[in-house]
Amino acid sequence: MSANDLHKSLKRHVTPAAGHGPRRLRFLKKNSAMMLFWAFLCVALIAFHVNEQRADGLPAIVTLLPALAALTTTWMWSVRAWHRYKKNEIRDSYRMATECSIDGISILMAINDKQGNTVDFVISDCNNRGALFYGVDAATLIGMHLSELTSATYFPEKMAAMRKALRLGYVEDELRGHHEHPHEPEWMHRKLVRTGTGIAMTLRDISEKKTHERELWRMANEDRLTELPNRNWLTGFLPDAIKQVRQTDRMVAVLFIDLDDFKDVNDTLGHSAGDELLRMAAQRLKSVLRPGDHVARLGGDEFTVILAAIADRHASVLVAQRIIDVFTTPFELGHGTDTVGISIGISLFPYDGDAAGDLLKNADIAMYCAKTAGKNRYQFYEPRMSEALKARVDIERALHCAIERNEFVLFYQPRINTATGQLVGVEALVRWQHPERGMVPPLEFISIAEETGMILALGELVIEEVCNQISRWREAGLAVVPVSVNVSPKQFDKGNTKALFATHMLRHRIDAGLVEIEITESLMMGEEEELSHELRTIRALGIKLLVDDFGTGYSSLSQLQRLAMDVLKVDRAFTSELGKTTEGEVFFCAIVSMAHALGMTVVAEGVETVEQLRILQALNCDEIQGYLISRPVPASEIPSMLQQRYLQCHSGQIVFPAQAKTDIALRPATP
Ligand code: C2E
Ligand code: MG
Ligand code: MG
Repeated sequence: MSANDLHKSLKRHVTPAAGHGPRRLRFLKKNSAMMLFWAFLCVALIAFHVNEQRADGLPAIVTLLPALAALTTTWMWSVRAWHRYKKNEIRDSYRMATECSIDGISILMAINDKQGNTVDFVISDCNNRGALFYGVDAATLIGMHLSELTSATYFPEKMAAMRKALRLGYVEDELRGHHEHPHEPEWMHRKLVRTGTGIAMTLRDISEKKTHERELWRMANEDRLTELPNRNWLTGFLPDAIKQVRQTDRMVAVLFIDLDDFKDVNDTLGHSAGDELLRMAAQRLKSVLRPGDHVARLGGDEFTVILAAIADRHASVLVAQRIIDVFTTPFELGHGTDTVGISIGISLFPYDGDAAGDLLKNADIAMYCAKTAGKNRYQFYEPRMSEALKARVDIERALHCAIERNEFVLFYQPRINTATGQLVGVEALVRWQHPERGMVPPLEFISIAEETGMILALGELVIEEVCNQISRWREAGLAVVPVSVNVSPKQFDKGNTKALFATHMLRHRIDAGLVEIEITESLMMGEEEELSHELRTIRALGIKLLVDDFGTGYSSLSQLQRLAMDVLKVDRAFTSELGKTTEGEVFFCAIVSMAHALGMTVVAEGVETVEQLRILQALNCDEIQGYLISRPVPASEIPSMLQQRYLQCHSGQIVFPAQAKTDIALRPATP
C-alpha cells in the first residue's frame, strides 16, 4: 500500500459517511450500561430535587445544579468515549489494511542526541510483511532500532535516506538488498514519508520486476551469437566514456576491428562454421582486454574495442598488437584449423572526433585503410584518409554510370616473338573515357570494380568488345593475331566466364584460337578443384590460358602445369632487374628453362630497353611485351602494326619500326 493509499484509507475512516449506522449501534451496545447508569443518576437527582423543593422550598437553581452537572459529565464522557472508540476503530481498520498489503510497512521514530541530531530510529509499529523483510515477526521487530537491524557497512547509507526524508518530507527510490536478513529481497522499492518526528516506511519486493527489466535490457543490448554487448549498447556507452574524460588529460580509444576474409570462411565452410568462428573470435578479444576495457560486436565480422581512459596512444598500440598476436593462433573449425587475420582501425578522442559517431566512423575509415594496406595490421586514423575515401566513393558512383553508358575503350599492346620479331598477339587493356577527367587508367578503377562486384558487368563489356573488334579486323581482311583478355579472379568466382566467352565468340563467329585469357597468379591460390575444372572447360573451347604478372604470387610451376596453363607472363618487376643485378638474370634463366620443360611459353612483360631485350634473347625467352616495342595503342592503329615486322637486324643492329602513337596521357614517357 502506498503512502497516498494509506492517507486515503485514514481519511475514509474519519469522514462520516453512509453506512455508519450499524457502527453507532455497536458503540451504543458497548456503552449502554454506563450511559443508563448516568441517565438514571440524573433522573434520581431531578426526582430528589422535586421532593426537596416541596419539603423546604429551596430555590430550584440550587437543587438542579448537581443534576445539570451530572448531565454535562454524561454528555462529555459520551463524546470522549465516542472519539476513543473511533480512534481504535481507525487503528484496527488501518492495521487490517496494512496487514492485507503486499508492502512491508513500518513506522520509525527518530532518536535524537543531545544536540538534536537524529542518530537512529526505533520501530514503533509495523505490519507482519514489514517484519518479514527482517526475518522476524511484528512483535519482535517493534521496539528494535535501525542500527540493530543494519550492519555498520550499510547503516550510514540508510540513515542518509531517512534524514533526507525527514528534511524533504518524502523520498522514493529503489534499493538493492544486501542479503543481511534471510528474507531480504534482492531489489526493493522504498517510500519514506515523514509523519511528525517519525517516518512511515513502505518497502515492496520488486526483484521479479527487476529480473524482467534486466532480461529486456539484455535483449536490447546484447549480441545473441557472441553474448557481447551490441551496437545499441555501444551507442549508449561511448558518449558516456567521452564525457568521463572530457575535462581530463585522458583519451578514449576506439578500435574498429574486422576479420580478414571472413566471407571466405562463410562461403567455403558454411554459415555455422562462420558463426563458430565469430564466437571464438569474441572470446579471444575478451581474453586480451583488461577489466576496464570493453568489446562489442557491431554486426557481421565487425567488433569494436573501447579503451575508456588511456594516458596516451601507445596504450592503444599495445592492445591492438595483443589482439593481432592472439589471432595468429589458428582456429579449430570442425574440418581442421584455419588462420584468420584481423585488421584494426584506431581513432582517439579528442584528436579524431568530438562525438561518438565521428570516432566510430573515423576508426572504420582507418580500418578500411589497414585492409587496403595489406590486412592483418592496425592503422591510426589520419584526416587524409577521409579525403581518399571520399574520392573512392565518388569513383564508385561514377563507375556505376560509366558501366551503364559504356564509357570504356580498349587499347591494345603488341607481343613480339623475341627470335623472329613477329607480332604474335596483342593484349586488350581497358581505359575509362571519363567525361570530365579524360582517359582514366585501369589501375584507378579495376580494384574498385572488383571490390564492388562491378567487375562482372565491366568484364562482360570487355569480352564483348574484344570479340566485336576481332570480327571487325577480320572483316577488314587483316591477318588477325590472338587477342588476350584480362579476366579478374572475381569473374571466375561467378563461374560463368566460360559461358560468356562462348556466347560472344559464337555471336561474332570468332575462332577460339584468336582469343586468350590472362589470369593473375592470385587466382591459383583458390579452390583448386573447382578452378581446374573451369579452366579445363575453357581450354576445351580452344582458348589459351596465360598466367599474368608471374612472380608476384606464390604459385608453383607444377601447380601451373596441373592447371594446364599455356603461357607465363613474367612480371615487369623482374624484367626491370635485367642488366642491373645478376639475380635478375638467374631468376629469368630458371623460369625459362623450367617453363620450357613443362611445355609453357615465356613472355617478359615491361621490356623497356634494348639491353633487356638482348639479355632475354640470350636467355631464350620466347616473347616480349613492353614500351620498347609499343605502348598500348587504340584499335585504329593495330591494322598498320599487323603489317609490320619488328626487330629487323641490319649489320648487327636491331632496328625498330617507327614507334606507334602511344597513349601518352596514361603513362610517363619511357626513360
Ligand atoms: P597487366 O595485365 O599486367 O597489363 C600490363 C600493364 O603494364 C599495362 O598497364 C601496360 O600499359 C603496362 N606496361 C606494358 N609495358 C610496359 C612497360 O614497358 N613499362 C611499364 N612501366 N608498363 C608497361 P595498364 O594498361 O595500365 O593496365 C594495368 C593493369 O590493369 C593490367 O595489368 C591489368 O591487370 C589490369 N587491366 C587492364 N585491362 C583490364 C581488363 O580489361 N580487365 C581486367 N580485369 N583487368 C585489366
Ligand atoms: Mg595482363
Ligand atoms: Mg601483367
